[in-house]
Amino acid sequence: MRTIGLIGGMSWESTAVYYRRINEQVRDRCGSLHSAEVIVHSVDFARIVAMQTAGAWDEAARALCDIACKLERAGAACVLICTNTMHKLAPEVTGAIGVPLLHITDVTGEAVRGQGSKRPLLLATKYTMEQDFYTERMRQRWDLEPIVPEAADRQVVHDVIFQELCCGMVRPQSRAAYLDIIARGKAKGADSVILGCTEIGLLIGAGDVDLPTLDSTLLHADAAVDYALAPA
Ligand code: GLU
Repeated sequence: MRTIGLIGGMSWESTAVYYRRINEQVRDRCGSLHSAEVIVHSVDFARIVAMQTAGAWDEAARALCDIACKLERAGAACVLICTNTMHKLAPEVTGAIGVPLLHITDVTGEAVRGQGSKRPLLLATKYTMEQDFYTERMRQRWDLEPIVPEAADRQVVHDVIFQELCCGMVRPQSRAAYLDIIARGKAKGADSVILGCTEIGLLIGAGDVDLPTLDSTLLHADAAVDYALAPA
């Protein structure tokens, strides 16, 4: 089994989901006492958020590259950045390491295509919804036409992520607000929903939504297990 390297802590609430999911998958695929070989480097998220809000992406890239290199030196055979937003810096991280970076956009894009959807509604941070590093990759590599919510709805989605979910708060009012936003996306032609922030699965799941729903956290964790268990 190959060792999985996780750049976590963004936030730790979702890194915990990764850790559990990866181990559950290894148990289910390999047998009851099997568990994953995992190395987690979990950051102080407040430090990263300060860089995001200041637009200090170069500094953030240096921090993530440094961690990725440490994971590789410690024996990781692949690296995952456990947040969609920080995939803005995936090119830098990929260039810094000699092992594969498993890209969350590709894993998710492949899953959207795989179940026959074309126009997914993207729920994510404002960085992910409004900058082009994520949506452009969905268009170019996966021939998808992602739809993002209107500006006011994007603000709601973003605020719930940072002010609630990343702080361990799950509020029914916010779940209802997200479901309203999804209904408006469906009215605009969305044929599926991407939970494109690793904490959103704490608030809503496929069972809450009347469209095919792709949870980037679970898909990304499962891709890590596929890689870890693939024949060398
Ligand atoms: N975990 C979130 C994501 O998947 C947001 C936290 C961050 O800004 O990295 O985008």
